[in-house]
Amino acid sequence: MPTVHEIENALYGWAPRELAADWDNVGLLVGSGASKVSRVLIALDVTEWVADEAIAQGAELIVAHHPLMNCRWHEVQSVVDDNAQGRTITKLLRNGVSAICMHTNLDAADGGVNDILAQKLGLEGLSMLNEEKIGRVGTLKCEKRLEQFLSDVIQLLGCRGLRYRDAGKTVHRVAVGGGACAEYISNALAMGCDTFVTADLKYHEFLDANGINLIDAGHFETENPVCGAIHDFLAERFPQLAFILSTSHNKSVIEYYTET
Ligand SMILES: [Zn+2]
Repeated sequence: MPTVHEIENALYGWAPRELAADWDNVGLLVGSGASKVSRVLIALDVTEWVADEAIAQGAELIVAHHPLMNCRWHEVQSVVDDNAQGRTITKLLRNGVSAICMHTNLDAADGGVNDILAQKLGLEGLSMLNEEKIGRVGTLKCEKRLEQFLSDVIQLLGCRGLRYRDAGKTVHRVAVGGGACAEYISNALAMGCDTFVTADLKYHEFLDANGINLIDAGHFETENPVCGAIHDFLAERFPQLAFILSTSHNKSVIEYYTET
């Protein structure tokens, strides 16, 4: 049986550590590199639900995208059980579950978050949206009306809905940025894109958008396709292991709509 470290190293072969942003925290974040692994749970986030799911499934390792701690939004100063982060870390350690997180290095990697998102949406001839290699630009085989493209995005990413700004342009040259990539709207415009698919857009970012269709398709929905890619990558290299795709990692944000 491979060790946690062997699996971490294999993942670095795909998404090298050097590709990660300097504020980021990637790799083995919780647990023991020497532990033997027979079952792996793959998830976008290591939430308490995901930790429970790993324990219930008998997984010794979680491979996830977002860092559990010590990055820009999860700075750990203590591990105590009066907050969700401390409880999650404690639960993992008590139950011998390790966690590997591959974040901005996997955003940037060939075949990582953004390549997978672009391919899912049918984009071809991909190039980089920015120097950080986070985000891609490509073209659709055929130009589409925006309404058609919106419905394709919903179907292809499994969204329940989305938010958008109509710039009055048909969709052909499209930028994608999985997760929160509003800061790259100007890059998308500079690269001649008519449409940008990303997530976590603020109200004023929609208001200020000029000359580009802006689509907020959801943070989870734009990044979750990478879980399937992690699965395929690891299953090919470690055929002796059992892999489980999380069914609880989408519980953090639930959409509620009423019919009008
Ligand atoms: Zn993200």
